[in-house]
Amino acid sequence: MVDADQTFVIVGGGLAGAKAAETLRAEGFSGRVILICDERDHPYERPPLSKGYLLGKDERDSVFVHEPAWYARNDVELHLGQTVVAIDRAAKTVHYGDDGTHVRYDKLLLATGAEPRRLDIPGTGLAGVHHLRRLAHAERLKGVLAHLGRDNGH
Ligand SMILES: Cc1cc2nc3c(=O)[nH]c(=O)nc-3n(C[C@H](O)[C@H](O)[C@H](O)COP(=O)(O)OP(=O)(O)OC[C@H]3O[C@@H](n4cnc5c(N)ncnc54)[C@H](O)[C@@H]3O)c2cc1C
Repeated sequence: MVDADQTFVIVGGGLAGAKAAETLRAEGFSGRVILICDERDHPYERPPLSKGYLLGKDERDSVFVHEPAWYARNDVELHLGQTVVAIDRAAKTVHYGDDGTHVRYDKLLLATGAEPRRLDIPGTGLAGVHHLRRLAHAERLKGVLAHLGRDNGH
């Protein structure tokens, strides 16, 4: 049973955010745990995106930090596909989404990771130039590689 008096908000659903939620529950935190992430996928690990998953050795399901049901089982509230746009530290409030949704926190963890640096040179927008950060990027690249393979390309 969740004790609604304490709310711990985690911004970012990568490995750090998902493991923070797991650790809070493992160490007995009984308040609300809310994880907000701008990605629509459940928290996943990125290393397989350039290795086993990209090569087709690992199944898609194997990249996720927890199975989807784990979050409900552990009373971790997921807000996926939601970008945190502002933090009001005085009011201890996080604002997310396009419609002014906000939530009050007692504790806040920013686990927002990093984004790849994009080269600022001509040609980076051409077809065939890829960035690999998200699961969707790996899925797209897998499709491109499979297509090249069929055409005996490199
Ligand atoms: C292709 C690839 C391969 C890698 N291979 C290795 C490896 O072999 N070994 C290794 O040690 N490391 C590897 N890394 C690095 C490793 O994946 C990162 O160090 C790790 O993902 C960091 O985890 P994180 O949870 O801190 O951040 P992230 O995984 O970046 O997660 C942060 C999350 O927060 C979200 N977010 C950001 N801002 C907001 C916001 N305002 N509102 C809501 N959500 C937000 C992001 O979209 C993201 O989902 C690899 C990374 C990539 C991309």
